[in-house]
Amino acid sequence: MPINLELPKKFRFLSTRANQVATEVLRPNSRKYDRAEHAYPKELDMLAALIDGMNDGSSELGGAGATGVRRTENGDGANRNGSNMSTVLGVIEMCWGDVGLTLSMPRQGLGNSAIASLADDEQLERFAGKWGAMAITEPEAGSDSAAIRTTAELDGHEYVLNGEKIFVTAGERADLVVVWASLDRSQGRAAIKSFVVERSNPGLILERLDHKLGIKASDTATFRLENCRVGRENLLGSPEIDTKKSFAGAMQTFDNTRPLVAGMAVGVARACIERTRELLAEAGIEVDYDLPPHGQNAAAAELLDLEADYEAAHLLTLQAAWMADNAKPNSLQASYAKAKAGRSCVDIALRCVALCGTAGYGEDELLEKWARDAKILDIFEGTQQIQLLVIARQLLGKTSAELR
Ligand SMILES: Cc1cc2nc3c(=O)[nH]c(=O)nc-3n(C[C@H](O)[C@H](O)[C@H](O)COP(=O)(O)OP(=O)(O)OC[C@H]3O[C@@H](n4cnc5c(N)ncnc54)[C@H](O)[C@@H]3O)c2cc1C
Repeated sequence: MPINLELPKKFRFLSTRANQVATEVLRPNSRKYDRAEHAYPKELDMLAALIDGMNDGSSELGGAGATGVRRTENGDGANRNGSNMSTVLGVIEMCWGDVGLTLSMPRQGLGNSAIASLADDEQLERFAGKWGAMAITEPEAGSDSAAIRTTAELDGHEYVLNGEKIFVTAGERADLVVVWASLDRSQGRAAIKSFVVERSNPGLILERLDHKLGIKASDTATFRLENCRVGRENLLGSPEIDTKKSFAGAMQTFDNTRPLVAGMAVGVARACIERTRELLAEAGIEVDYDLPPHGQNAAAAELLDLEADYEAAHLLTLQAAWMADNAKPNSLQASYAKAKAGRSCVDIALRCVALCGTAGYGEDELLEKWARDAKILDIFEGTQQIQLLVIARQLLGKTSAELR
């Protein structure tokens, strides 16, 4: 089947709409919330309602936000562009506007993605319309998520959770936090499960919000779980500890969310390249696509180089999302996309700052902010090094015990 690189026709409206929102709402508020760290971006409430409308689950067009990553069987075997693709396309445009504000969009958290990926139909309905944050990371467990120490002990009809969670994006503002905890630490990673905890649960204690390099519009929380009781029905996926499957259930979320984070990076990278192209044009430097790089101004040649990197990241991201929509195993491609887009985004942003000289570094432009925002996209949902590790394991056929 030949590859068609055009935007699927049915998603053009969504993509144009998301770009409009990014231009008219996100960009004008970018600097304001970069300066007012931890202030709630109230301008987003109205937008979120609009996205809820787009996410009306009845349609494949749904998924302008994180809830759109549910996988459905593709029974007829036909090529499908579904909600994973539309979500990625929406996220690219929104993050072209502002990645910190996109991460602050009500009801579009990574917890929503986890719920969309793992919940059964009853849970999906019960948690519909709520904003979900995701709490995996702990002081002693970042990249090595199998090392988490938070425990979940069954007591009658409830699980009792105890532990500490750090770096929880949207942790303060969300309605729910999806918490990874172990049912039995002696059984290793297979015992790690996801639990949906209401933010109002008295056992989920907000300790502090963190100050950061970038994405300042997004709140990042630290929690303590102290005898935090949640109903059995809030466990996502199977409660059985299946050592053969390892923690494939929980990890499955990453196959859907890594392409999303790659999409965020693609959006930021495009924003940097476009603004740099404009600023260079104002300085009289234009790229000539009919000439080889060595026949052009050095700045134009560098821009060509950045564009090539951007295209590679963009296409890998679309590939990973397309595979998710078509029910194809995509762990490898999700990591390719996240690794390439994360690294390219940081590199592109910093090189654009350099290319634009004082304009690139000053606060009159958003380039310096984008360079700060970019770094997180190469860290969360698995760092650059971890993506390369996942890729190497898959290509070499090694287990996580054999290659770490
Ligand atoms: C702003 C922000 C928001 C976040 N949001 C969330 C969130 O919503 N939910 C959540 O659960 N987490 C979140 N995180 C946490 C993020 O996912 C972790 O920071 C990330 O997984 C890395 O973990 P760590 O910081 O503990 O670093 P470590 O795991 O300690 O790693 C430190 C360095 O060592 C490298 N490294 C580690 N292991 C290996 C290895 N085996 N081989 C080679 N190199 C290795 C890493 O790549 C990294 O460069 C967020 C983090 C930040 C900063």
